[in-house]
Amino acid sequence: MKPEIITFTILKKFGGLMHAFSTRKGGLSKGIFAGLNLGLNTNDDKESIAENRKLFFDVLDISEKNLAIPGQIHSDRVSIVEEPGFAGESDALITNKRGIFLTIQTADCFPVFLFDSKQNAVGLVHSGWRGAAQNIVGKTIQSMRDYYNCKPENISTAIGPGIQQNCYQVDRKTAAYFTNAVLKPDGENHYLLDLQLTIINQLINYGIPADQIETDGRCTHCEKELFYSYRRDGNQSGRMMSLIGLKN
Ligand SMILES: [Zn+2]
Repeated sequence: MKPEIITFTILKKFGGLMHAFSTRKGGLSKGIFAGLNLGLNTNDDKESIAENRKLFFDVLDISEKNLAIPGQIHSDRVSIVEEPGFAGESDALITNKRGIFLTIQTADCFPVFLFDSKQNAVGLVHSGWRGAAQNIVGKTIQSMRDYYNCKPENISTAIGPGIQQNCYQVDRKTAAYFTNAVLKPDGENHYLLDLQLTIINQLINYGIPADQIETDGRCTHCEKELFYSYRRDGNQSGRMMSLIGLKN
């Protein structure tokens, strides 16, 4: 079985632009990691991870040599990518170089894909609640403006699968970083946080037109056949990969 990948209508229309979000389908990992676990730093069998990665990149017809890979730390740091390889400790990557494919890994956190078709610049963001609290999405758009002269009205964006509000309980301390509009009380001391809506609001606040935001909308916590979930599986959770870049 070939790896099953998710793509977005809003990004598919651009020739030369490659993007993908992996699912569990079509991988070789066993047990709790069953499926296409692409997480390099998970406790899964190393050979299975390597095989899964090969399967995934073969389907996309991309060489692993051309990937940019950040050390994800739930920060608001944006890496300006000039060459493939390790992209430093950060949670967002941007580039305007062809032949480099930006990647991040997630399991519940949201991946955000950005593409400016006028400046031929791409961005990829990893946003969990810490990233959202620090507005990493807004800071990535600002970096695309600063470094590549992008205009928000030319940027098409897609938000991949992540943990949706009904499954995402947070405590009072975490909730304090967010507005009431994205919180639903859940008992005395807890709230359900709508991370996806938070990210949409950040995109709009930084000038992205609402009709240039596509959301997958599926919940990684609910759909266990399709997605890994850190909230559901804890330390024994695999990872999905997001990827975006312009082909040579
Ligand atoms: Zn759910």
